[in-house]
Amino acid sequence: MIIDTHCHIQFKGQDTDREKIITRCRERGVILNLVGTQKDTSERAVMLAKEHPDMYASIGTHPNHVFPTHIDEEESHFLSREEDFDTEFYEELYNRAPDKIIGVGECGLDLFHLPPDIPVETVLNKQKEIFRKHVAFAIKHTIPLVIHVRDAHEPMIELLKTISLPEQRGTIHCYTGNWEFAQEYLKLGFYLGFTGVITFPVKKTNPAQQESLWEVIRNMPEDRILVETDAPYLAPQKYRGEQCEPWMTEECVAKIAELRGKNPEEMEQIIFENTKRLFHKIQ
Ligand SMILES: [Zn+2]
Repeated sequence: MIIDTHCHIQFKGQDTDREKIITRCRERGVILNLVGTQKDTSERAVMLAKEHPDMYASIGTHPNHVFPTHIDEEESHFLSREEDFDTEFYEELYNRAPDKIIGVGECGLDLFHLPPDIPVETVLNKQKEIFRKHVAFAIKHTIPLVIHVRDAHEPMIELLKTISLPEQRGTIHCYTGNWEFAQEYLKLGFYLGFTGVITFPVKKTNPAQQESLWEVIRNMPEDRILVETDAPYLAPQKYRGEQCEPWMTEECVAKIAELRGKNPEEMEQIIFENTKRLFHKIQ
């Protein structure tokens, strides 16, 4: 069994395909953690999780939504709406499905997508303040954090070292950093989630980048590895150009098994157990 620990098929863009995606995931026995990025996507994640026995939800405010920011990437173009972590709203949402809400996030720090005209310090301070609210929520409900970090490993590690953390810690989602940063997160008790990015070939222009990520996977303690898709983004290499769907996590499992010289079924079982240990509410 595979659990996609981070996907967003509750997004509006998936409305027309969702039923088919759900069927394809169910055929392969893939369980989903639908991760919210602001109020509406968190609420939709919870609604879907309540309707489907093989779906769970995480709720929170993505750091890109802390200020209005133009997000313009290969697979997404939008102006993010400014939102805080409205504790009252999220408490109310949590109380609607405490057995299905397994994590808090996606929350974290992002210094890659910066709003124009606002000093980096201001952005970072606001993101940190909102991240701390997620941490308090995670502690209160004894659930793990689903953390997004982009171009911000140093401030994130420093922050995690100075605050009280939930007992379950959480996962650093879509980990693409180096082994030095990975060790810091591992020492703090976190898990690392790997997406289809690990299946990409080595870039001729920057071969060291992918080698460094594979080094992390080879060195990782077996019991802290998670897989995810971040669907609808980041389709694994085999499906590049197509819309990413949560069942494609099987490609991530296969790549990790290959890099670690392990039997894929055995690797799948280990990752499944890791996921259930961290997201302890998954049945
Ligand atoms: Zn995400």
